[in-house]
Amino acid sequence: MRYASVVVDVPAKGTDKLFDYEIPNKFAGVIQPGMRVIVPFGSRKLTGFVVQLKNETDIDSVKPIHSLFDPEPVLNHELLELGAWLSETTLCYKITAFQAMLPAAMKTRYIKEIKPSSSAQLEDLPEEIRTAFEKGGPLSWEDLPSSLVAVVQKEIRNGNLQIDYRVEQKQKKRLVKYVKPLLPVRELEEQLQHLPARAHKQKEVIQFFIDHPNPILLTELTNSIQGASIAVKALIKKGILTEEQVEIYRDPYEHKQFPRTKPLPLTDEQKRAMEPILDKLNRHEHEVFLMYGVTGSGKTEIYLQAIEKVLNEGKEAIVLVPEISLTPQMVQRFKSRFGSQVAVLHSGLSSGEKFDEWRKIYRKEAKLVVGARSAIFAPFQNIGIIIIDEEHETSYKQEESPRYHARDVAIYRGKYHQCPVILGSATPTLESFARAQKGVYTLLTLKERVNRRPLPEVHIVDMREELRNGNRSMFSRTLFEKLTDRLKKGEQSVLLLNKRGYSSFVMCRNCGHVIGCPHCDISLTYHRHGEKLKCHYCQFETAMPSRCPECGSEHIRFFGTGTQRIEEELNRLIPEARVIRMDVDTTSRKGMHEKLLNAFGEKKADILLGTQMIAKGLDFPDVTLVGVLSADTMLHLPDFRSGEKTFQLLTQVSGRAGRHELPGEVVIQTYTPEHYSIQLASLHDFETFYRQEMKMRKSFAYPPYYFLILITVSHPNAIKAAEVTEKIGQYLKLHLSNEAQILGPVSSPIPKMKDRYRFQCMIKYKREKNLYNSLKLLFEHYEEDMSQTDLKLMIDLNPYTIL
Ligand code: ADP
Ligand code: ZN
Ligand code: ZN
Repeated sequence: MRYASVVVDVPAKGTDKLFDYEIPNKFAGVIQPGMRVIVPFGSRKLTGFVVQLKNETDIDSVKPIHSLFDPEPVLNHELLELGAWLSETTLCYKITAFQAMLPAAMKTRYIKEIKPSSSAQLEDLPEEIRTAFEKGGPLSWEDLPSSLVAVVQKEIRNGNLQIDYRVEQKQKKRLVKYVKPLLPVRELEEQLQHLPARAHKQKEVIQFFIDHPNPILLTELTNSIQGASIAVKALIKKGILTEEQVEIYRDPYEHKQFPRTKPLPLTDEQKRAMEPILDKLNRHEHEVFLMYGVTGSGKTEIYLQAIEKVLNEGKEAIVLVPEISLTPQMVQRFKSRFGSQVAVLHSGLSSGEKFDEWRKIYRKEAKLVVGARSAIFAPFQNIGIIIIDEEHETSYKQEESPRYHARDVAIYRGKYHQCPVILGSATPTLESFARAQKGVYTLLTLKERVNRRPLPEVHIVDMREELRNGNRSMFSRTLFEKLTDRLKKGEQSVLLLNKRGYSSFVMCRNCGHVIGCPHCDISLTYHRHGEKLKCHYCQFETAMPSRCPECGSEHIRFFGTGTQRIEEELNRLIPEARVIRMDVDTTSRKGMHEKLLNAFGEKKADILLGTQMIAKGLDFPDVTLVGVLSADTMLHLPDFRSGEKTFQLLTQVSGRAGRHELPGEVVIQTYTPEHYSIQLASLHDFETFYRQEMKMRKSFAYPPYYFLILITVSHPNAIKAAEVTEKIGQYLKLHLSNEAQILGPVSSPIPKMKDRYRFQCMIKYKREKNLYNSLKLLFEHYEEDMSQTDLKLMIDLNPYTIL
C-alpha cells in the first residue's frame, strides 16, 4: 500500500476528514491502521491516526509521512469503527472520538523549540541567546526566561532563529535500573583479590554479588550498601557489572493484599437470574439484560460468576462502576476473586498509573477491567461480557465532547463481539426499564436481599412541622434521638447531605440580597477556611464581606448547610460523637477517600457525614442508621429528571443501613413530605414510582416517550447569543417534521458562565429521518462564525443535565 489516510490532531470542522499521505519506502509494511504517525501539516508537524491504507489517491501533491509516533497500532479495527460511529452519533470530530478512547497520558504534547535557522550566523545572535545555546541543545519556548522573549521574537523575524515543533507523548514509561554481574561467581572472587585494598566499597559490592548473583534494583542495592552507587559505576566501567533499564508498571494497589475469595453457592433467585446469561454466553450471542435487583440482592456475586466463566474461556470482560463507588471495597471484591488479571481505571489514579493499567490491558496481561466510564474503551479484542453496574448513574454520560453514554458504547461493543451486556441497578433509569418492559432488553429481577434481611424501615420527617414546633436546628428530634441512641449502643450512623444544586450561599437577612458570581450568575459558596466566597463554575473568589454590599446591614451571613456547618452543629449537639466528614474538601488529596472510609470501617468514628459520594457501594456491618438531612435539595432543580434522581438517591442511601445482622433504619428529613418520589422511596417501591413517573413523562413529552436534544449557544454578547439561538430554532422548525417539538430559545438555567451568555433550545422528537443531517448542516452553517467571532454551539443528544 502506498498511501495512508490520516485523521489529524486538529479538532475543527475544516480538518474533520481524512488526509492522504504517502508512505515512504522505509515504512512500507510497517504502517498499519490504528497507528499514530507524525505528519507535516501546513507549516507544522502534527500527530494523526492512520485509519486506512490504499493504493490510489486523488491528491496531486501528496506529502510523505514524517515518522511513526507509536510502534504499534493503539486502536484496533473495532475501535476505529467505533470512533467513526461515535463521531456520527454524538456529532463530534473524529479526532475527538479517537482521543477519547486513549488514556490522557497518551495525548500528544507539542513542544516548541527555538533553534538557530540554517542560514543564521551564530555570532550574529545576541550574547544572551548564544550563551543559552552553548549551555546545550535547543531552547524550549515554554521555559524561555521572560527577559529573552522579546529578543527571540525579533530574531525570528530577522530569520536567525526558527521555531520547531517537537511532538511527544505526555506520559513516559516508568523505567528502573537493575544491576547484575557480567562475570560468573568464580571470576568475581578473582576480581575481589585484584582490587586495591582502599577500594573497599567496590569490594563490598562484589562480595554482595558473590552472595546474591541475581539482578537487583539499583535502589535496593544502595539501600543495603550505603553509598554503593559510585562503586557500581566504577565496576560497570571495568566490565564487572552491567546495568539495564527495565520498564515497570506503576501499581496503585502494589502494597495491598487481596485475600482470595471463592464463588458462593447461588440462591435460587440468583440462579434464575444467572441462567439466561449463561445461556447467551454458551451460544456466543448478544443480548442486553437489565438486572433489576434490590440493594444487597447479590447482583455483584452474579457478575463475578459470569465473569469467571468468560475468563475461563479465554475471553475478556469489562465492568463499569460509577466513579464514586469505585471504592476500595468494590475494587477489592474483583481483585480478591481474579487477582492480577484485574486492571482498574478511575480518576483517583495518577495519569501515569492509568497509562500503565491501560497498557496491561493492551498487552493482554489483564483480562478484566473494572473502571469508570472511559473503561468502556478498553482495547480488548475478544470481549465475552460487559457489565454496567448502577446503570442509572448519570456519570456514565460524558458531559463534554464526545458526549457519549457508556451504555450505548457497551451495546455497540456487545453486538460487535456477540456477547451479553448486563445493566444492573436497584433503581433502573426509566429509559432502561421501559425498554425491558417492551422486550428490547431482557429483564432479570432479584426481589430479596441474599441474607433475607428486610429492607430498612424509613421514617419521613416533615421539617416544616419541626420549625412550627420551635426546632430551628438542622436535626429533627427524631433524627437526633436516633443518633444518640446509636451512640449509646455503639452502632454507627451515616448522614447524607445532598449538596447537588444547593450550596451555602451568603444572604443579607435585612434586604435579602444574595452574593453572586459576577461571571456566572449563580450564588457564591461560603468557605470557612480563609473566610472566602468562591464560585463553583469559574475560578472567581472574594473575601467574605462584613456588611451587605446592597444595604450596608451587618446582618449578612451564610445560609444553607455545608457539611462543615453540619459537623459543627453535630459537635455542639452531641459532643461525645466522633465524626468523619467526607466531601470534596476532605477527599481531594489522593488516598484520603480510602483512608477516611477505612477509619470508619475500623469504627474509629460513630458518624460518617458526607455528600453523595457516601451514598453508594459502602458496606459496613455496624451501620444501623442512615439520615438524609434534606431530601428536597435535588427535587426542585430545573431538570425533568429531578424526581427520578431523588428517588434513586434516597433508595441508594437507604440501602446502606442494616445490610448485615443488625436491622437498619432510615430518617428522611424534607420540606415536601407528600412528594411521590419521597413517599415511594420510603416504601422501596420502584415499580409504583416507575408507573407514576412514566405518566408525568408522557404528559410532558419527556424521555422515554420522546428523545431530547439540547442545543446551547453561548457568546460574550447576549444579543448575539439570543439571535443565533432564535435562528437555529427557526431553521429546525423548517427542517424537522411536524412531530418534533422545538422549545425555546430560552436563557439557560445558568444564563452566564465564564463571561459568556448562554441560550438554549430543546428538541423533543420521536423519529426524525433528517435529524443528523440537519444538525450537521447547522454546525457547518455556523462554522465560520465559530472560528471568527467567539460563538460556541453545543449539541447534546440525550442530555443528562439540562443545567
Ligand atoms: P448487590 O450487588 O445486589 O448489592 P452483593 O452481591 O453485594 O449484592 O451481595 C450482598 C451481600 O451478600 C454481599 O456481602 C455478598 O458477599 C453476599 N452474597 C451474595 N451472594 C451470596 C450467596 N449466594 N450466598 C451468600 N452470600 C452472598
Ligand atoms: Zn442587605
Ligand atoms: Zn463564576
